[in-house]
Parts: sequence; structure tokens; C-alpha cells
Amino acid sequence: MTRSEELFEKAVKLIPGGVNSPVRAFGSIGGCPRFIDHADGAYMYDVDGNKYLDFINSWGPMILGHNNPLIREAVIKACEKGLSYGAATEKEVEMAELITGIVPSIDMVRMVNSGTEAVMSAVRAARGYTGRNKIVKFMGCYHGHSDAMLVQAGSGVMTAGIPDSAGVPGGCTKDTLSAVYNDVDSVKTLFETFPEEIAAVIVEPVAANMGVVEPKREFLQGLRDLCTKYGAVLIFDEVITGFRLQLDGAQGFYGIQPDMTTFGKIIGAGMPVGAYGGKREIMSLISPAGPVYQAGTLSGNPVAMSAGLAQLNYLKDHPEVYTGLNAKSDWFFGEMKNILEECGKNYQINHVGSIGSLFFTETPVVNYATAKSSDTKAFAEYFKYMLENGCHFAPSQFEAIFLSAIQTKEELSGVLDMFHAYMMRK
Ligand code: PMP
Repeated sequence: MTRSEELFEKAVKLIPGGVNSPVRAFGSIGGCPRFIDHADGAYMYDVDGNKYLDFINSWGPMILGHNNPLIREAVIKACEKGLSYGAATEKEVEMAELITGIVPSIDMVRMVNSGTEAVMSAVRAARGYTGRNKIVKFMGCYHGHSDAMLVQAGSGVMTAGIPDSAGVPGGCTKDTLSAVYNDVDSVKTLFETFPEEIAAVIVEPVAANMGVVEPKREFLQGLRDLCTKYGAVLIFDEVITGFRLQLDGAQGFYGIQPDMTTFGKIIGAGMPVGAYGGKREIMSLISPAGPVYQAGTLSGNPVAMSAGLAQLNYLKDHPEVYTGLNAKSDWFFGEMKNILEECGKNYQINHVGSIGSLFFTETPVVNYATAKSSDTKAFAEYFKYMLENGCHFAPSQFEAIFLSAIQTKEELSGVLDMFHAYMMRK
């Protein structure tokens, strides 16, 4: 028995499913998750001493690789001054200044502790601002686990929300409307049906939670136009794309300004952080400035802020990180495509900047329905092969591959060789 297996056996008795977040459990793959001991640079090391080239990168924030000395030092220095005060600090002002300086659509920003909280709070702000209740989200987009966001993709755009999880009362999702990703008409229909009831449209500007699905630019522009026309708040959930596609995220990448933005883990560089921000007239409504209540004991935690500031300031001062990372990613995903072609496989590779997915389907993946056409058994087999050969991808067909700036072309070439060998064999 490996140490990971021993730990997992113990863990399932003590922690639901043996993990503190479901996807870590290898649910759709089967088998035992690897328990990680430490991570450094481009690699994670498990408790059995196995080494993995890491493509999870903590689901995004490790854009500079693990255990970056600059960030580590900033954290240690902050720790020496105490871990938490529950009182205002200079670092929070610095962080707010940095974010509002980088992202033009954000006049004011509030720190929270996770992406879930950021979305939950942004939706509340949008409802408070508009005095309306309904929210439009897209099938296959994930916005954290707050009640209103856990809505199953129903049969068709007009379906009122059906909760996707036990324990979510129907009342919590009755105002959540589902639309089809990359299909502006599906949203237009909802606005025509409820012209004065929709508070917000929330979207992952690049979908990354049904695997990576690239938005058509007209789709994002269409959402912008509809929200403006009907007086609804456009929320870009940039928990994955923020400070990753480029410094100002997907909104900069596609040149479209939302009214509000949510961010997540990348702001904390690996510490538990989220943030939401947007137009002054909306953000001024948040407590204690206004009537929309939102709070958090650990929000803006000085250690987390120090980690985040070290990472974001570095990225701001080194734009070549993005040019290099995106060019390397174009090459890597492009090579994957070439290999598939050479091996006569018509699987789909989607990628935008440094996030991408390999879908085991011959159907181009443009939304939830087409993503679901993937052969998850084929993915599981492939995942296990790559893991056994020292590559740790996210253990699900419907998650992104995250590249980091620290992975070298040589390391990635090794992965491509492995990929080639696998595809030739199959
Ligand atoms: N929004 C998006 C787009 C996400 O990808 C996630 C999680 N990866 C969340 C919200 C929720 O973030 P968290 O897990 O930090 O609550």
C-alpha cells in the first residue's frame, strides 16, 4: 500500500469523500488521489516521493510556479508582523490601488476569501443596485457553490432554475435563469421575456469549468449590448481568467468592459483570496458605505494580501511573463493538435492563452452540450497514463489545463513526446 493510499483510507472515514473539495477525489477517474507533500517550481511531490510536472497549478494562481522565492519571502515577512488583526491595514489599500489601476472597469474593489464569496457578493450588489431579482447564468459555467449559482442545465433556455445539489431550496434558484454559452439569442429571449426583472448576466468570459470553451467575441459583445439596453449588470467572473490571460484579464484580452468583475485565488498567489469590484455607483452600495450587506473577519488578511501583492506587482512589472507564457501555450496546444492529426485522431483541443483542454470528442466544443459529448472513460485512461508518467493534470475532462511561466519548453516537449506515444498506441 502506498502512503497516499493509506492516507486516503483514513481520510474517507474523517472527511467526506476523503477530500476538502470534490474534484480532488478522482471521482470520474477512479483510484486514489495523490497526497501532495510539497511543490516547488514546476513540480509537485507526493508523500511517496513521486514527482509530477504540475498542470493544475492550484487551479490557476501558481502562474509563476510553486514556492516562488519572491512570494515566499513576502509571506514570511508578513507573518513576522502577526497573522490577522481584524482591523484595517495599509496592504489592503495597496491592493485596491493596484487592482483599480490595472483594470479600467473597476473603480472600487472589496476583498473576500474565495471565488464563491466574490460571486455571491457581486450578485447581491447587482440585485441591490437594480432592485431586480433575476440572474442569467450559462449552462456549464461554474460560479462557486452558493445556492443561487448551483443550477442545473435544464432543457432549454427558458427553464426556470432547478437546483443542482441536494440541500438547495427551490426558492433559492427560482430567479436563476440558464442560457446557452456562445448563443446571444438565448439571452436575448430571456431579456424579451423578463425585460425589467433581470438584475445581472454573469459569465465566465472564457469558460473553463466545462473544459475550456472559447467565447466568440460577438457573444461577449452581445451580452454587453443586451445588459446596456435592458439596464442589467454585466458580471465577468474572472476567477480563472483574471491576471492570467493578460494583466487585465479576459476583459482586456477581448476589449469588452463589464460592469462588475469577480476574481479569485490568483490574487492571493496561493493564499485563500477572492475579490469583487466594478463601477463606483454599484460598489458604493456595499456596507458600510451603503445598504447591501457583505462582511468577512479574514477578508483582506495581511498575509494573503502580501502574497498577492508580491505576485501581482511582479506580473505588472514584467509584461514579458504574459507574452512568453501565451506564446509557449500557443506552441504547446498547437503541437498537441498536430500530434492528434498525425495520429488520425479527431479529438478537440480548445485553448485561450495559457489555459486549454483536450476533449475526447469529434464534435467541436462550443458550449455545455458539445462539451458533454466527450468520452470521459477515454479521458480517464489518458489521465492515468499521464499521471503514471509524471504529469499531473486536473482529474476531470471538464477542467482546464493550466500552464505556468516556469515550465520550460524542454519539459513541455517531454510531455508532448508522451502524448504522442499514447496517441500512437491507442
Ligand atoms: N468562479 C469560477 C469561474 C471558478 O472557476 C471558481 C472555482 N474555480 C469559482 C468561481 C469559485 O471559486 P472558489 O473555489 O475559490 O470558491
